Amino acid sequence: MLKKVAVVGAGVAGLSCAIRLQKDGYDVEIFEKDSFPGGKMNTISSAGFTFDVGPTIVMMPEVYREVFEYAGKNPEDYIPMQQLDPIYSIQFSDGQKYDVSTDMAHLTAFLENISMKETLGYYKYLSKTYSRYLNAKENFIERSFRGPLDFYNPKTIVNALKLRTFNTAHNEVAKYVKDERLQKLLSFQTLYIGISPYNGPSIYTIIPMIESIYGVWFIKGGMFTMAKAMASLFEELGGKINYNCDVEEVLVQNGKACGVSSDRQKIKSDYVVCNADFPYAMKNLIRQSTYKGKYTDKKIDSMKYSCSVVLMYLGLKKKIDGLKVHNIIFADDFDRNISDIFQGNDPKDPSIYIYASTKADSSLAPKDKEALYVLVPVPDLSVRKKRWTAEETEQYKKIIFSKMKKVNGLNDIENLVEYEKIYTLNDFESRFNAHNGATFGLAPTLGQSNYFRPHNKCMSTENLYFCGSSVHPGAGVPIVLTSAKLAATELRRDAESL
Ligand SMILES: Cc1cc2nc3c(=O)[nH]c(=O)nc-3n(C[C@H](O)[C@H](O)[C@H](O)COP(=O)(O)OP(=O)(O)OC[C@H]3O[C@@H](n4cnc5c(N)ncnc54)[C@H](O)[C@@H]3O)c2cc1C
Repeated sequence: MLKKVAVVGAGVAGLSCAIRLQKDGYDVEIFEKDSFPGGKMNTISSAGFTFDVGPTIVMMPEVYREVFEYAGKNPEDYIPMQQLDPIYSIQFSDGQKYDVSTDMAHLTAFLENISMKETLGYYKYLSKTYSRYLNAKENFIERSFRGPLDFYNPKTIVNALKLRTFNTAHNEVAKYVKDERLQKLLSFQTLYIGISPYNGPSIYTIIPMIESIYGVWFIKGGMFTMAKAMASLFEELGGKINYNCDVEEVLVQNGKACGVSSDRQKIKSDYVVCNADFPYAMKNLIRQSTYKGKYTDKKIDSMKYSCSVVLMYLGLKKKIDGLKVHNIIFADDFDRNISDIFQGNDPKDPSIYIYASTKADSSLAPKDKEALYVLVPVPDLSVRKKRWTAEETEQYKKIIFSKMKKVNGLNDIENLVEYEKIYTLNDFESRFNAHNGATFGLAPTLGQSNYFRPHNKCMSTENLYFCGSSVHPGAGVPIVLTSAKLAATELRRDAESL
């Protein structure tokens, strides 16, 4: 008889883990509290505008494609992609704007315009960071950890030391380039995973390197195409998704996970894979304290969380010429902006990210109109200490609009808006069960990374596995797709050892 696997959550990681296991011959059933697949990779469709809700930047496209290839399918049939150039447009506080290209000749011209020395520094950074990335990929990102010996062994310790990740991202970059704008350009990406460039481990300087050498891509129809495609593929393989099914408990008997119970039913299974955010799941879905292991409620509350965001989805009455697909507008005082976010103050002068998906796919808005997604990093609940009120959201909207006005064509933003929706940390907490409204889950500090991050195989309950942002290897679509692969491998390893 086929072994049964219950998966909690149809987020990116849950779907991809389910596809792998269904393909491997397990009988897999997903239980998703919402009425759609994808979790944060969701969509808002209204008044002719279509917005991606969460992720927007496609990096490491081969990891996306691998999900379909694993199932013997051609990814092009599911997620047709195009490479973007420039990867983004950056506007600094002095109003200067740069389009950052992956084309080497363009990039070199841009760098040499600053100075030859900085150009040399940049290429040294690229080469050193690539070598660290190869080490991280082989020895940490694509490897799961079970017991202490998986980490505390001479080979892994030597590789960990070679990663030299004790420095901060910003200080690491400053070793190669002295120009302040270049330093920002090569370190602000730690915000993609919700941590500060001034505190976040230097290993995350691999993010701009990955953008630069593998490119930034766009999936036709936006990110939600990926979520829909994974759900279809899973169903084509014979898997079943139960939508509107809120799991209330992971059932455990004699130390082994043996099913899930929801508001509707109890389902028995041989294994459980949990894609719901780890801190939430440990607090709410694992009921008995013996099965939580070291992750007691107190421990979960004392852990460090990534920042949150305020997100505006704006349907505009007309096209805006000055925008590319991805646009970053830095705060006048970036250092202050970052310290505000991580010390619990809502930035008065924020940096903002504008995603104009309609620049890559005009079908995402009515003719001659623009769909904009405006993201502003703000503190999560663990440092902000209070939820957003409706008044604060309205006040903050004014701050965001005043920043948007610095972009050519958006000077009159209030009068251009024909559709508007705003998400705050309250929404991330309530809609996606993201603990503390931390949009990127547990912060990937050194003490919460690799062996020290919650494992893909639960250490306190047998037959229970985790995938998603708050477990190893971390947040971001390609990384949670990797966590799904690791969780599936761990499950198979246990099943095959019986
Ligand atoms: C605003 C934002 C911007 C981002 N930008 C990027 C980007 O540009 N590029 C990138 O690569 N990454 C980006 N990320 C990160 C990326 O989106 C996430 O790391 C990834 O989507 C997380 O997927 P997941 O499967 O781990 O979690 P989730 O998407 O949170 O999925 C968890 C699923 O579990 C379900 N669930 C929870 N509790 C229960 C329950 N009790 N019962 C049943 N179901 C339950 C939820 O409804 C959800 O569907 C961004 C994230 C956000 C929020």
